[in-house]
Amino acid sequence: RSLNISGKKICIRNKMENYNNIFEEVDGKIRAMMTSKRYRHVIGVVETSSELAGIYGTDIEKCRIAAIFHDYAKQFTKAQIDKTIISHSVELDSLESESIQLSHSKLAAAIARNEYGIKDEDILNAIAFHTTGRAEMSELEKIIFVADSIEPGRKYPGVEAIREHAYCSLDKAILIIYKHTISYLLNSEHKIHPDSVIARNYFLDKSNEVNL
Ligand code: FE
Ligand code: FE
Repeated sequence: RSLNISGKKICIRNKMENYNNIFEEVDGKIRAMMTSKRYRHVIGVVETSSELAGIYGTDIEKCRIAAIFHDYAKQFTKAQIDKTIISHSVELDSLESESIQLSHSKLAAAIARNEYGIKDEDILNAIAFHTTGRAEMSELEKIIFVADSIEPGRKYPGVEAIREHAYCSLDKAILIIYKHTISYLLNSEHKIHPDSVIARNYFLDKSNEVNL
């Protein structure tokens, strides 16, 4: 029995060490690849998501890994984008194919899975849906989505209110983030991804149910 217990402990420790190694490797890679402003944003998301994970009792190691990967492909060249799509058979919908603003999330998830061996579907989904969000997000997905909008480097009118909500209710913070992002997309004549619209309606319904 004690052998089983110690065997289990070793297994858990190895998994943690693997994540640590991957974190360090990706950290070094993106530091060299990104502008310092983008890199500071990623580290901001790592720190904010860890903090939120502590508050909500979510796995901090998973948050750190999802956060360090999330914008991996944001500054890819056209050649890097094409290479990633082909080598990992990434399936993009028509809106994602038009814009790196949307596709970078899906590309980063494919790289995490295929180049770094990340198998945890929750981590991969948190990376893949960090830009649009989606209805019925897991807690990890919500934390990455929210941290991306409120990390300390984010400065826009209203960010303080979202930060305050984030520490009491992720759902409320998400609803306000959609209000900001969807208004911005409307006002700047950009297309809106259906996942964002569906998710916004879902969180609106959820908040109305709570208020009933
Ligand atoms: Fe992003
Ligand atoms: Fe980001």
